[in-house]
Amino acid sequence: MITRIVNAEDGLDEAVSLIKSGELVVFPTETVYGLGANAFDPAAVGKIFEAKGRPQDNPLIVHISAVGEVKEIARDVPEVFYTLAERFMPGALTVVLPKSDRIPGIVTAGGDTVAVRMPDNAFARELISRSFPLAAPSANRSKHVSPTSAGHVYDDLNGRVPLILDGGECRVGIESTVLDLTSGDPVILRPGAVTAEMLAPYLGAAPGSGKVIGTAKSPGMKYRHYAPTAEAYAALSAESAAAFYDRCAAEGKSPVLLFRDIYPDILGERSRVSLGRSVDDFMHNVYSALRTAEKEHDVIIVETLAGEGRAASVMNRVMKAVGGKTV
Ligand code: AMP
Ligand code: MG
Repeated sequence: MITRIVNAEDGLDEAVSLIKSGELVVFPTETVYGLGANAFDPAAVGKIFEAKGRPQDNPLIVHISAVGEVKEIARDVPEVFYTLAERFMPGALTVVLPKSDRIPGIVTAGGDTVAVRMPDNAFARELISRSFPLAAPSANRSKHVSPTSAGHVYDDLNGRVPLILDGGECRVGIESTVLDLTSGDPVILRPGAVTAEMLAPYLGAAPGSGKVIGTAKSPGMKYRHYAPTAEAYAALSAESAAAFYDRCAAEGKSPVLLFRDIYPDILGERSRVSLGRSVDDFMHNVYSALRTAEKEHDVIIVETLAGEGRAASVMNRVMKAVGGKTV
């Protein structure tokens, strides 16, 4: 299969026809790029799993372009969903609800819940409104780092998808927060840019964390996601990163530091991919930096962020990328 990368606006009509005829289309969102198919068409959704090499027991997010569309993919939608939607949709928040009978089991990995999100990207919403409902996971090969540019998608899915819509770099840079509203008290199954602290005022209390109740409700979280192809470590400090870097270099390896620009004296002239200056910069840059680093180096050493909120969400992804290894 030939894979074409087309400017998003230019490719919109073609993308809509492809999706309607049961094909896949890669599209930009504000979190990461998505690999979309008609969520009502099980054969089309099957192609997502095939193109990604994704295990069938990892369910997909269904994307909407307007809050009212939720009724077509979910049932018994609780009032709190609409409260959250008013504040966080469009945005980087995915909400798990009881699924409508119209959503085939392949979308939800056989489960009776469906994950719903409205992207904060006007182009994505235009595409979704014309091809609703769009089932889409991240547009990477399964277990690799999620893509935040059309080039990242091409590197993973060339020959496996017909069309990549190029909408530039994703603004947020990590996958959405997943909030489950189907199991009693609200639970965050996957942390993201929308934090527990931001959600708490709308839920009456801070949501729980998926870690507390285990992984059963969030089938995707048991997999080692987001991993680069090179050996990777999280650095407990800039000093320990510099020391480990020097040991690797002395052994003839090619290490690289993924750090923000705030430790220049400690890190010196060592090879580095910049993660910017703020926590949001780190979030925006980290996947792209991992992909750049794995192409040119054997050992990746990533800065560790302290703190709650978005810093903790980014660290969730970094610790998966490094397989929990620290230096
Ligand atoms: P991705 O779009 O590649 O980030 O993957 C979608 C994520 O949403 C995975 O981590 C899934 O486990 C999670 N997800 C999708 N549907 C559900 C659902 N019905 N219940 C719980 N988690 C879900
Ligand atoms: Mg993914």
